[in-house]
Amino acid sequence: IKNNKGEIIIIGAGPSGSIAGALLQNQGFQVTILERQLFPRFSIGESLLPQCMEFIKQAGMMDALVNAGFQYKNGASFVCRDLQTEFSFEDKFSPGIGTTFQVQRGRFDKLLADEAVRMGVDIQWQMEVTAADFSVDRPELMVRNQQGEVMTYSADFVLDASGFGRILPRLLDLESPSGFPVRQALFGHIEDRIGDGQFDRNKIRITVHPQHQDVWYWLIPFSNGRSSVGVVAEPEFLQGWDNNDQALKDIINQDPSLTALLQNAAFDEQINTIVGYSANVKSLYGKGYALLGNAGEFLDPVFSSGVTIAMKSASLAADVLVRQFNNEAVDWQQDYAEPLQRGVDTFRVFVDAWYDGRFQDVIFHPQQQPEVKAMISSILAGYAWDENNPYVKNARPRLDTLVELCR
Ligand code: FAD
Repeated sequence: IKNNKGEIIIIGAGPSGSIAGALLQNQGFQVTILERQLFPRFSIGESLLPQCMEFIKQAGMMDALVNAGFQYKNGASFVCRDLQTEFSFEDKFSPGIGTTFQVQRGRFDKLLADEAVRMGVDIQWQMEVTAADFSVDRPELMVRNQQGEVMTYSADFVLDASGFGRILPRLLDLESPSGFPVRQALFGHIEDRIGDGQFDRNKIRITVHPQHQDVWYWLIPFSNGRSSVGVVAEPEFLQGWDNNDQALKDIINQDPSLTALLQNAAFDEQINTIVGYSANVKSLYGKGYALLGNAGEFLDPVFSSGVTIAMKSASLAADVLVRQFNNEAVDWQQDYAEPLQRGVDTFRVFVDAWYDGRFQDVIFHPQQQPEVKAMISSILAGYAWDENNPYVKNARPRLDTLVELCR
């Protein structure tokens, strides 16, 4: 039986594409996802936040995820020289799921895509969108297959979930600069061989560089004895090495606690790099299309908010589309862009305060008020849209006041 509410094309089968696809297919749309690659494929962004579990649940994919054997995650741990502080998401202020997973994205993204297919979404692999025409009644996309043949697809509406591919922002001249300076990440997967019995594999570990407060490392343990490890800095800091592998090892060795933790690690896979990933757009929607996830705005990796924002955008856009195709009046600015932006702006306040060191003054302060910590924990758990949280509703002034109190 064919669904017939409307035909939707989604560009990209990453988390935002698969979640949006499943939500819309389940609402009676006929969804086609065009994905340039073949899954599983590597993607960066391996530490999830509990808030994104709400969207996975909404899309009907929770059982598959829980049964997949990924590393359980219940919080975040921050380290700076001899200071250490932990946030347990289960103590968070906002209601909602309090745990999540640390995932190899190749396998995770494939699982979500397979679930979307199980629900009836048609995913066409190795099909790259190369051009688009939104001036016609039904939007048209030019698509190139593996053999180099080009064909035209049309649909009632297009969602761009192409992530860092940013296909519609590029084709439709929607790109706008990010407010953040250019930063670079060096990263890879290692056999971590962490022998320290105190080390908690259920938490992402964020380490501040001992001399440079705007340089930081992530350590994301997986369930198979391997970890993702990376360092983020402005590009000048990462220059002067012949290869990425040596650069990452040397920079890790600049931090004594991380050096001790990873003393037996095997760096047995290629170390990769990505630079200038922060991005923004002039508009998140237009006639016949909307941008999801990283195809819209990407802030910064420090709070692991990317996949959560991507899934939130999928959920909001699916709701608007359902109403639009039910002939209800919809306003993409009010119903999509603004609600999405509220949470992104919450994260932005915290990302700003991370890089100027103020957030670190708060989290490493020796006296921590449990109620305040619970509210901060909520944001670190991804509940950045919960207006009942004063650190969401009035993020900047509340955080400024807290920083003053801590200083
Ligand atoms: P993607 O996951 O990028 O998926 C886009 C898909 O579209 C891809 O499969 C691609 O092949 C396909 N595509 C692209 N162009 C085309 C085209 N023309 N035609 C057809 N298909 C196309 N997020 C977290 O949540 N946790 C983290 O710990 C985290 N760490 C990060 C660390 C770094 C250094 C960086 C840079 C980012 C990190 N992120 C993290 C962010 C995360 O990677 C992204 O936010 C997330 O993957 C966005 O999902 P998406 O669905 O928007 O796009």
